[in-house]
This record gives sequence, C-alpha cells and structure tokens, in this order.
Amino acid sequence: MQHTIKQSYTFCGKGLHTGVIANMTLHPAEAGSGIRFVRTDISTDAIVPALATNVGPTNRSTTICSGDASVSTLEHLMSACAGLGIDNLLVEIDAPEVPILDGSAKPYVEAIMADGLLAQDAPRKCLRLREPFHYEDESGAIIDILPAESLKIDLTVDFNSKVLGVQRFVYSPPPESSAPCPHNTGALPQPLPLRAGYSFGSPSRAPLSPDGDSYSSIDDNGGCKSYTDYATQIAPCRTFCFFHELEFLASKGLIKGGDTENAIVVVEHPVDPATLKRMQSLFGVGDLEVHEGYLNNLQLYFPDEIVRHKMLDILGDFALLGAPLLGTIIARKTGHRINTAVCKSLLESDLLY
Ligand SMILES: [Zn+2]
Repeated sequence: MQHTIKQSYTFCGKGLHTGVIANMTLHPAEAGSGIRFVRTDISTDAIVPALATNVGPTNRSTTICSGDASVSTLEHLMSACAGLGIDNLLVEIDAPEVPILDGSAKPYVEAIMADGLLAQDAPRKCLRLREPFHYEDESGAIIDILPAESLKIDLTVDFNSKVLGVQRFVYSPPPESSAPCPHNTGALPQPLPLRAGYSFGSPSRAPLSPDGDSYSSIDDNGGCKSYTDYATQIAPCRTFCFFHELEFLASKGLIKGGDTENAIVVVEHPVDPATLKRMQSLFGVGDLEVHEGYLNNLQLYFPDEIVRHKMLDILGDFALLGAPLLGTIIARKTGHRINTAVCKSLLESDLLY
C-alpha cells in the first residue's frame, strides 16, 4: 500500500548553505503523485518533482531543478520519507533551500510519527534490478547493487581519519508487512557522555570496537539483530564536517547557515587556542573545546554517528528513484554526487522493472 501523511506540518529555519530562512509545509498528497516540491515564492506552478532526473548541483548537498525553480539540501527530508515509507507528499517551500534544523531527519520523524501515516487505496510499486549494477567515480566512491527481494545497504566510510577510523553500517529495514522490531522501545538515543580531560592524541581513547578503530553495526542494531529501526537508529544522526574545513567553507560562503547546533565537528589535527577563539567568534559561541577528536558543541548519539548519517543521506538520495528499490547495495565512500549519479543512470537505463 502507498502512504501519505495524515495532516500538514510546518518547519521553519535557515538553509545550511545559503543561510536563507525558509518556511516549509508538508502536505498529504494523493496516491500516485509521488514527492513534489513547490517553490511558493516563485509561483504555485513552480513544481519540482523529487526525481533523480531533476538533480542539479551536488556540491555538499543535493539540489533538484525544474525550469526556474530549484530546491537544495532536500536529502534529509527525503530520507525521512524513505525511512518511514511515505510515498506521496506535497512540500510547499518559500526559499531555495530546505531548513537544516538540527542537521538530521529527527524533527520530521518525530512530528510525522506522532500522528502516524495514512494508508492509501493503491498498491506500492517497488523497483527491482534485472542484473547487478556497478558504479565508481574518480574520488574512490563505489556503489554496487545486486538484485534482491528486499532492501539492504552495507555502507563503509573511510575519510582517512584517525578520529573516525573506518566505519561500517548495515541497514536492513523490516519488510513492509512485518510487525515492528520487538526489541525497539521507540525511545530516541541519549547523547553519549563525554569524558572530561581528554586531549588530542591521548591513548586513553577507548577503541570503538574490540578489533581496533572500526565500528560495525552488523550485530547490533540497537538490540535488534534482524532489522534496523530507521526512526531511532538512523534519523537522529546529524550532518558533520571537519574542523579544518570550517574556516575554508565559511570563507567561501558555503555554510552561511552553519552554526554549532546543526553539525558534528570532527577535529582531526591539534587546534591551537588562538584558532579555537577565532572559530568561537565566527560562530558567536563561547567555550569551544576538543573532546576525543570532536568539538564539544554537541554530544554524539552513537560512536558511529558519522556512517549512520551517511546512511541517512544514501536513503534520502535513493528516494529520488521515485519508488522504493529492492536490492542489496554495497557502498563505499559515498556522497551526494555518486548517490544521485547512480539513481539517474538507473532511471535512464532499462535495468529497473
Ligand atoms: Zn546529510
């Protein structure tokens, strides 16, 4: 069955990259209409269907365009739709960029799931692959997709980072008709406590897993061995950047809406007090410190929150296929560029049925 939302929800906030304040309202939409955005500040006809064939720039976020209208940084909202199983949605927005909110999909999930979804009297069409698909680009990003009767995504990220190590997460949602995961309490995770007194490079940092610096979710999906609960395991995971990129991005005007509330900041190299002070004044905050390789602006929900956010992004970008994909996706070092390029080439091929 297809699903939409039960009522309208409004979100207001600034775009991460443009800093422009957006008012965005999600409305229920009729079966078969898919997910569409309307740029109400341009015209009520300025409709951009959320499809990979409409993807434009993918520099640090995903943008879709149609005619004069474009909408950027839609991936976290699209991820919430994919994770919750929303097929049809009309999104009115009065600005070029979706609000970043807390950098995750949690605000959407919390609002929508408070009411639940509306089942619609139309079957859901899923997409299947006729044969294995392989895509890689010059950045080292790789996506392989194998035909299967259910979705599974096995994602590995490697930023060549001492702080993050190599992180891997396997996402395996429950089948549409199954009961909810019995071990899932529905509670959102609490931030992990930070240990005081940590200094960069300290050998006291606990390894993320017994075998060293990689952390795997394969046998631990929040206590449920079989399926991943999107709402609690993926949706809360926030976007991130590296500290050494921050000043550069800010100087290029790429994070006008960035503040210390909506991104995890990974501190790969030692930072001298003068630089920290400069960042404090740039973001208008005080008392910035480095704890265990992360800036203390916020606390992690999961030790592997970074790979979980990348999973959130993949789910959002693959929602641009316009229907759920059934297949096993094995992905490495992905970003919006390869995610959307894969979806676009799949839609333009005869591989899907
Ligand atoms: Zn993201």
